[in-house]
Amino acid sequence: MHINMNGPAKKIDTPRNRAPYRVYWNWELTHDCNYRCSYCETWRDDVPTPLYPGPDRWKQIWDRMYGLYGSCVVRFSGGEPSIYPGFIDIIAAVARNHSIDITTNLSFDEREFARKVEPGSIAVSASFHPEFNDIHDFLERVLFLHNSGFISTICYVAYPPQLDRLEYFKKTVEDKNIMFKFLPFTGKYGGREYPRDYTSEERELIYGAAVKAKDPKARELNTKWYEWNAGKRDSENGVKKGRVCLMGYMYAVIHPDGEVTRCCAGAAGRDSGVLGNIIHDGDFRLLGEPRECRAANCPCFKAMLAESDSWHSMWEALPHKKYKNKTDGNH
Ligand code: SF4
Ligand code: SF4
Repeated sequence: MHINMNGPAKKIDTPRNRAPYRVYWNWELTHDCNYRCSYCETWRDDVPTPLYPGPDRWKQIWDRMYGLYGSCVVRFSGGEPSIYPGFIDIIAAVARNHSIDITTNLSFDEREFARKVEPGSIAVSASFHPEFNDIHDFLERVLFLHNSGFISTICYVAYPPQLDRLEYFKKTVEDKNIMFKFLPFTGKYGGREYPRDYTSEERELIYGAAVKAKDPKARELNTKWYEWNAGKRDSENGVKKGRVCLMGYMYAVIHPDGEVTRCCAGAAGRDSGVLGNIIHDGDFRLLGEPRECRAANCPCFKAMLAESDSWHSMWEALPHKKYKNKTDGNH
């Protein structure tokens, strides 16, 4: 599905004129990864090579987005974003104008990162994978980043064979005052389909860990993730077809080939609509207004539905140290 960008003419708001007053990007730099976690749905042996237009072109693109939409929040994700060529230099360039959030397994040199990147506008969500890392070594690296000014948290997957260590990892991380988040597992294990087939005991354990999170923000996020994924036993939560959503206007996903979709619904996000290609289209723009959703099923517990503001708190992000927006209290 390709959205006609010449549809009803509406002016572009620069920056966005309604809460939370900023544009969020989820930039999937590559779907490849140097790990092969048993529970991962992203990597495959045949993932296509991502487009790599080079650091200068990326800088040009992100400077243009700043010109159009002001200071945005750019989430680097994947696959593993740090295996993308020039990862640290690209972060350093994008962070000049935009706040950054990185979801990573920390496969980069944190000392080089701290030397090259200016702290203050960057958050790191470090995904801890016990099949590949020791919690103590991993936590030490996270603490180094955190204490260097890059707000860092740890995220864990509530994969059934890993549930017995959930409480231990949570306590180890929280004892160092690092936020511990976890995601219910989505996929097949032992002939069962998750999250639907979590047992009552597993649900109790996950929910208990969610509501007992030390940090109030982690408590909110873990509980909402639980309620959205593990808490539901049917697919009805996900249906939002026809409702007006700000995604595409205030949020978009950039895929490894540069294609941009409103959100991640369906294969390569195409169910919600394709907005264009941020690398190839010199006049690429987001939607000029919130629009009705055409996807049959909404996969997002943070969907930006126009009818409600209950999602606002889920999108709180680090303000840019230099460029403030309305919610940062500087207007
Ligand atoms: S580190 Fe992340 S992207 Fe890589 S295999 Fe594990 S879950 Fe997948
Ligand atoms: S309602 Fe859901 S599927 Fe539709 S655009 Fe919003 S986030 Fe995407």
